[in-house]
Amino acid sequence: MYETKAYAAASATSPLASTRIPRRDPTEHDVQIEILFCGICHSDLHAVRSEWGPAVYPIVPGHEIVGRVTRVGPAVTRHKTGDLVAVGCLVDSDGTCPSCMEGLEQFCPNQTLTYGAPDRHLGGVTYGGYADSIVVDERFVLRVPKNLDPAAAAPLLCAGITTYSPLRRSGITRGKKVGIVGLGGLGHMGVKFAHAFGAHVVVFTTSPGKAEDALRLGADEVVMSRNPDEMQKHAGSFDYILDTVSADHDVNALINLLRRDGNMTLVGAPAKPLAVAAFGLILGRRSLSGSSIGGIPETQEMLDFCGANNVTSDVEVIPIQKVNEAYERLLRSDVKYRFSIDMASLKAG
Ligand code: NAP
Ligand code: ZN
Repeated sequence: MYETKAYAAASATSPLASTRIPRRDPTEHDVQIEILFCGICHSDLHAVRSEWGPAVYPIVPGHEIVGRVTRVGPAVTRHKTGDLVAVGCLVDSDGTCPSCMEGLEQFCPNQTLTYGAPDRHLGGVTYGGYADSIVVDERFVLRVPKNLDPAAAAPLLCAGITTYSPLRRSGITRGKKVGIVGLGGLGHMGVKFAHAFGAHVVVFTTSPGKAEDALRLGADEVVMSRNPDEMQKHAGSFDYILDTVSADHDVNALINLLRRDGNMTLVGAPAKPLAVAAFGLILGRRSLSGSSIGGIPETQEMLDFCGANNVTSDVEVIPIQKVNEAYERLLRSDVKYRFSIDMASLKAG
């Protein structure tokens, strides 16, 4: 066991602050990683503030990790010292259940989340990526294409895969009309992927100031979702809508924009249950679904796609000392479009 620097919250109402946490020494199949960058996901904020239920404190968030391999266990075959690698929302699963057999580790009943989950090795709970280093089983360590900027690649590990996976699964290709709701971390990646897959992309935003960016990121049209007239123009026309909104909002107004048999997938996870009007689904045989990150094979596929197509996140790189300010800005939808923490700043305090 060794100690590493980290940022943790001591309670649902405490700011994140500098601390030290234990990490295990790499065992047989483990990879030790020096963390270079970690993205800030809105899930970190939901979790830190116990919005989804009580968290275990102290909590060290962070599941968009890019770093350099510093040590490997004797049985590791997939990675070597010096490699640029990444870790997302999962660090372990049983490897034997039907979901794991299909490469869908995110649905394994015995999965271990990167932070806040029971730690099989050290006891207590797992600690995430707002830290100097992390030790992870090689099966959950991904390869980062060399041409990608590490700071801008970090958000691919959650915002990237969470939007890539449902868009792929829904068969989004050229000619499909796709809506992306909310232009934050997930949303802006959704726009980039849907555009890259050839769809006609419409962004729904509550922030007039983001319209120009939406077009630059790959949208064909932008709709102010709080303007009923603008919404009405698109009634019954969408093949697919991906909803990334983190707070309470009107999903019925969005469902009504789907064509017959259209589908809307929720990836945004507001703490408060959403009200769904049955008739919006019944009339038009529309469906509402959900999607959770993506499995390890698909996450590698997504990273390779990003490498081949030069897709990364638009990031604002911040030092760890600005993390609490960044959380407040996230709540105000004031992020363009993902915060990426430069972990070298942790060495300063
Ligand atoms: P984010 O960067 O804060 O983006 C959320 C966006 O939602 C905001 O930028 C804003 O976009 C829009 N929004 C916020 N409040 C709104 C409101 N009251 N009404 C309408 N729109 C509103 O957050 P994120 O990191 O992308 O995460 C989004 C959500 O996905 C979070 O709930 C997170 O926990 C969840 N998540 C789920 C998964 C999964 O596996 N399913 C994975 C990661 C994250 P505009 O300014 O454009 O309106
Ligand atoms: Zn996330």
